[in-house]
Amino acid sequence: MKDKTSIIALQNKLLSWYDKHGRKTLPWRNLGKNKNELGFDERLSGINRAYGVYISEIMLQQTQVSRVLRDFYFPFLEKFPSLKALARADESELLKAWQGLGYYSRARNLKLCALQCEAEFKGILPRKKDELLRLKGIGSYTAGAIACFAYDEAVSFVDGNIKRVLSRIFKLEQASLKELGNLAELILNKNNAFDHNQALLDLGALICTPKIPKCGLCPLYELCEGKFQPLNYSKSKKTKYEKLNLNALFITYEDKIVLEKSKTKLYKGLYNPILAQTKPINALYIGSFKHSYTKYKLEIKVYIQRLKNKEDYEFIALKELELLPLSNLCLKALKLFNQARFS
Ligand code: SF4
Repeated sequence: MKDKTSIIALQNKLLSWYDKHGRKTLPWRNLGKNKNELGFDERLSGINRAYGVYISEIMLQQTQVSRVLRDFYFPFLEKFPSLKALARADESELLKAWQGLGYYSRARNLKLCALQCEAEFKGILPRKKDELLRLKGIGSYTAGAIACFAYDEAVSFVDGNIKRVLSRIFKLEQASLKELGNLAELILNKNNAFDHNQALLDLGALICTPKIPKCGLCPLYELCEGKFQPLNYSKSKKTKYEKLNLNALFITYEDKIVLEKSKTKLYKGLYNPILAQTKPINALYIGSFKHSYTKYKLEIKVYIQRLKNKEDYEFIALKELELLPLSNLCLKALKLFNQARFS
């Protein structure tokens, strides 16, 4: 499979599959097109191609394409339409625009990266992979993706989807990142790196899926060495989770509530109910929910304490909550809070 003829066959099959079945209409794949060209999205007029690609790549790191498209990409670009806007962004507003996407260090890094571009690259994202790699929050995959998808550089890269496809095609059980990187480079179609890389990503997302790969529909079936036992060649390391029980307390007074702005690394800058491992006293239990956060599997019990006097707390009016960046944990707890409030 590593001979030249097979590689050319793979490249051709991949491209003709992408032509018919690829997700070619995704807006970030059509940035930089002119108004009348196929695939142009009005909502992105005026958005710099590299910037639009960069934002999409960061959002897609941990979030599904459909959610990014439906809920986040366009509103974010409307609020922060350029690197310059990002560099000037108020952290709270930035976190608010990121609310629901999780992994908030990504949002904080966006601003740091924008500032770095101003200081080192005249306010634009550089085009070379090694320069992109110097930027905050940009790792090897993202640097390659920006170089290729924003600047048409003929570079290869490996993400989770490409890793799975390569491992199966070449029948590799535990390939190192270096080995996979070399294989991605070996099969790279330098004449059309943009479509080639998008095709690999799409093949991994749509056909060569983790649990039930659709080998019967795969354009690479004839060439794939791992097609008879694909699941043997894509075992991902099982994440070890730590279980943690937490209590979340909402202190209320009239139509106001106490929320804490987190200073810890975990939720820095985001608002949460008062979280503690000890059960709050004189508070009403209103329900519980499960929540995953990085390596933690949390079981959260939610309580309300209604005060008759204001005491020394700093309260926030309930109607102002929509302006604050709230953690996903806080949003889930607020659901229970609202149910209890209106029942
Ligand atoms: S034939 Fe099956 S295992 Fe091989 S690349 Fe295609 S979908 Fe993946």
